[in-house]
Amino acid sequence: MDWKKEIQILEETLEQLKARYADRIDLKTLEELRVKFLGKKGPIKALFDFLKIAPKDEKRELGQAVNRIKGLFESWIVEMRQSLEYHEEEIRDLTVPSRLPSLGHRHIITQTIDEITSVFKGLGFAIATGPEIEQEYYNFTALNIDITHPSRDAFDTFYLKIPPDKKKGKFLLRSHTSPMQVRIMEAISPPVAAIVPGRVYRPDAVDASHSFMFHQIEGFLVDKAVKFSHLKGVLLEFARRYFYEDVKLRFRPHYFPFTEPSAEVDISCQLCKGEGCSACKQTGWIEVLGCGMIHPNVFKHLPSEYEGYTGFAFGMGVERLCMLKYGIPDIRLFYSNDLRFLSQF
Ligand SMILES: [Zn+2]
Repeated sequence: MDWKKEIQILEETLEQLKARYADRIDLKTLEELRVKFLGKKGPIKALFDFLKIAPKDEKRELGQAVNRIKGLFESWIVEMRQSLEYHEEEIRDLTVPSRLPSLGHRHIITQTIDEITSVFKGLGFAIATGPEIEQEYYNFTALNIDITHPSRDAFDTFYLKIPPDKKKGKFLLRSHTSPMQVRIMEAISPPVAAIVPGRVYRPDAVDASHSFMFHQIEGFLVDKAVKFSHLKGVLLEFARRYFYEDVKLRFRPHYFPFTEPSAEVDISCQLCKGEGCSACKQTGWIEVLGCGMIHPNVFKHLPSEYEGYTGFAFGMGVERLCMLKYGIPDIRLFYSNDLRFLSQF
């Protein structure tokens, strides 16, 4: 094989092609030319095949020449394809809306917070947020959480290395959103109804149902003659709108330092309608939140204008409610940034 001659012919052919299609080529012709010259049965492939059996002293020079001519053909094809695409772009209908960049969407936790707060907004609650760096006074003392309570222990709260405030005590990452009860009522005259979504922090070991950071929504309402029945009415309406229309609530007596009486609230299991299934651990009920009437000792920390008022409060875990609604098995999925999970919502 006279490979030098072959390569020279190819070079000349390429120059001819360049001249011939300088103005215009269609995609079909271009593809045919690509297959003809660069395809499995093309002359360049034949040269590569010859390279394998070529005399040893010619291999180096031949290899370089074949690679060079292959590169020349390839770059011409790429160049022509690009100019073709550019040309198509030009003649495209300019009234067609442009392609929108992918913007992503709100995280499922944000969506859940928005969904829950919008229910309470519809019931007349104001929406507030508060500082994630709290003080002992608001996080514990004003909420009737005694200095001996285990949650105040350094093992159960993230204390910060900031010099403590003389009156309000040590600084910490809030362990719940309840401190905003007192902060809001210090700032606003009664009556007040507010909902407070936000991040909270606890030094829990991370597993399928625990995280050192999660989201809570605190809600409370203070007015003249507020009764437990008002609390039940508000929570039932919330459960109907967030979970399902004919949901039933069950209030179980419980203890929280900042409410008296206190209750844990269960919803009837939607899957089995109370019959018992694996989702509700055969009980027919699923625990969703804690609540109660605001403790008189909390009122003692409020401005005097709150004398003679009563109120109720409740707190719920956003992740928990979201996991229940969508059957999400592991809390860590919320924070793993896995698009396969996030894009489902
Ligand atoms: Zn069930």
